[in-house]
Amino acid sequence: MSNCAIVGINWGDEGKGRMVDLITRDHDVVVRYQGGGNAGHTIINEYGKFALHLLPSGIFTKGVVNILGNGVALDPENLWKEIEEVRARGVSITPENLMISDRASLLLPWHRELDGLEEARLADKKYGSTRQGIAPFYSDKYSKKTVLAGELNYPDHLKAHLADLLEYKNLTLKNVYGAEGYTMAQLEEWLRDYGEKIKPFVKDTGEFLKKSSAAGKKILFEAQLGALRDLDYGIVPYTTSSNTIAAFAPVGSGFPGVKIDKVIGVVKAYSSCVGEGPFTCEWFGDEAEKLREAGDEYGAKTGRPRRVGPIDIVATRYGVETQGATVIALTKLDVLSYMDEIPITAQYELFGEKIDRFPFPAILPEAKPVNITMPGWKRDISGCRKWEDLPIEARNYVEYIEREIGCRIGYVSVGPERESIILR
Ligand code: GDP
Repeated sequence: MSNCAIVGINWGDEGKGRMVDLITRDHDVVVRYQGGGNAGHTIINEYGKFALHLLPSGIFTKGVVNILGNGVALDPENLWKEIEEVRARGVSITPENLMISDRASLLLPWHRELDGLEEARLADKKYGSTRQGIAPFYSDKYSKKTVLAGELNYPDHLKAHLADLLEYKNLTLKNVYGAEGYTMAQLEEWLRDYGEKIKPFVKDTGEFLKKSSAAGKKILFEAQLGALRDLDYGIVPYTTSSNTIAAFAPVGSGFPGVKIDKVIGVVKAYSSCVGEGPFTCEWFGDEAEKLREAGDEYGAKTGRPRRVGPIDIVATRYGVETQGATVIALTKLDVLSYMDEIPITAQYELFGEKIDRFPFPAILPEAKPVNITMPGWKRDISGCRKWEDLPIEARNYVEYIEREIGCRIGYVSVGPERESIILR
């Protein structure tokens, strides 16, 4: 199999970063195809522990070319800061191992500001934005009101284009939100500070991908967040502003005709969710606190405590279908080792009926979890490297999930380190 996508099945934070890090060894090119710096992949490797936001996870692997595709919210400011941080820890980042699609739209300074202003206006009705400017960015992209990274190569054209956008944006900033607005001089300074820095990385990455594919190179597509946050198929409106599903990878990568052979869906052995919106399996109180502590469930970007609960079979089955997953990686199984009994949200109860189908977003808040338990294993499994090493209770739990979600679990992760994985 040559091309592969690694995607989240649930609400995000499933541990995709560690899977990409593991799988990049077998690939030549890693492409991020959607989203921006609003989530974080945590990766632990020989350089230390990293929370990557925009950089593709293949950046640590020598010989791998990393691409930020046209579907990404390309934030020059945050990207440059991230490049500098990662470089400072001994990782080489050059235009040879990092390329930015010339068709990626730029997240401009006002997008972040607009995000904050809108969340403040929404007050208690807010959607839980990370205020990285992602929603205003994608709104502008679809309104054709932002610039492409490739325009950095045409300064006169870029200046005229930005002047038009500036006029338009200042109307919203000043008249809708009562904010100060921007001047051309500020934008020019921003371009000098960040635009110029990322310019050497901007390339026709579509052409590069096509040629790489023709030369038999293997491409890995890396997503951010999970199926339930997909703009079209997720829990609307508590979604992100881009398509997180594997089907979008060809479009957002710059290689729309590419065929993806394998979709690795990442599922966590329990559930976690950042931000607002219905989260049917949610636990509260001491039970939740214990699981949150055991799994270290605090946002990689924001440090916010994540909401937690048992694995949600109904939501996970839907995520598997939506992603078209061909194999599942189950992560953080080791976190459940402290439990006497392993909880599972097996079904939902909706309007007095037990259901297996994930409900339409508008009625999802009415759903109640139907929970069951399975016997726990109560011992440290983080040293297990083979399927047979796992206690029978842990194997039963994995096999139960596999049956219920209708997809083979090919990887079981029992720790954050590269080698803490069981291949089945
Ligand atoms: P992502 O955005 O999907 O990559 O998810 P996160 O960045 O939230 O990563 C999940 C966190 O869990 C990171 O801190 C990982 O190092 C950690 N992690 C990943 N897999 C495992 C595992 O199997 N066991 C444990 N204990 N931690 C893991």
